[in-house]
Amino acid sequence: MATITEENYLKALLALVSEPGNDRGCGSVSELGQRLGVSVPTANSMVKNLHAKGLIEYEKYKPLTLTQAGRRAAGLIVRKHRLTEMFLVDVMGFGWEEVHEIAEQIEHIDSEALFSRMDRMLDHPTVDPHGSPIPDAEGRFETVMYANLSESQVGKRFELKALSQSTSEFLTYLTERGMGIGSELEILSVEPFDASMRVRLNGQEELVLSERVCQMLLVDPL
Ligand SMILES: [Zn+2]
Repeated sequence: MATITEENYLKALLALVSEPGNDRGCGSVSELGQRLGVSVPTANSMVKNLHAKGLIEYEKYKPLTLTQAGRRAAGLIVRKHRLTEMFLVDVMGFGWEEVHEIAEQIEHIDSEALFSRMDRMLDHPTVDPHGSPIPDAEGRFETVMYANLSESQVGKRFELKALSQSTSEFLTYLTERGMGIGSELEILSVEPFDASMRVRLNGQEELVLSERVCQMLLVDPL
């Protein structure tokens, strides 16, 4: 049984090793510390502790990876987090920008019954309200690689599938413009000066989106 702090380390290391572009699937103690906002010595002693529990592969001066047991444990925390977010949005009517902080707390509840009931009530969802995959009951999940809108072609239509980051500020920005997972975006033109895009949303109104926003929208062609 891991403590809340240990669970947060496992989750942070899983996020680090699953980052797109990290083909080696490993991280360092300092990256891990940075992610968690703790010093390198603090992160180092926790890593040693998780190594002793058989959850992290650790050797001095070598990159960090999760053991099979560690990956499963981390995947299950992410599962609880994302199921909770889905439950809060779908069943309880929260906005998608309101749920992360609540899920950060609920993910540490140790009750398989609670989360399998949630999963059943939601009819076994595979993605959370932000389009991120929900790991299965063994903690396994696949990251789907979507293109971002800024790399996509003018004149084509796309479906918004996921977001490359989901801060509440960004989610609020999207909500205010009527955008959500499943929205249809047609690229009408790209401004050569700053790469901002004029798009048509859901076959109706036109919007101008900055390059930064377009880079955070992960899409699939329709
Ligand atoms: Zn979240």
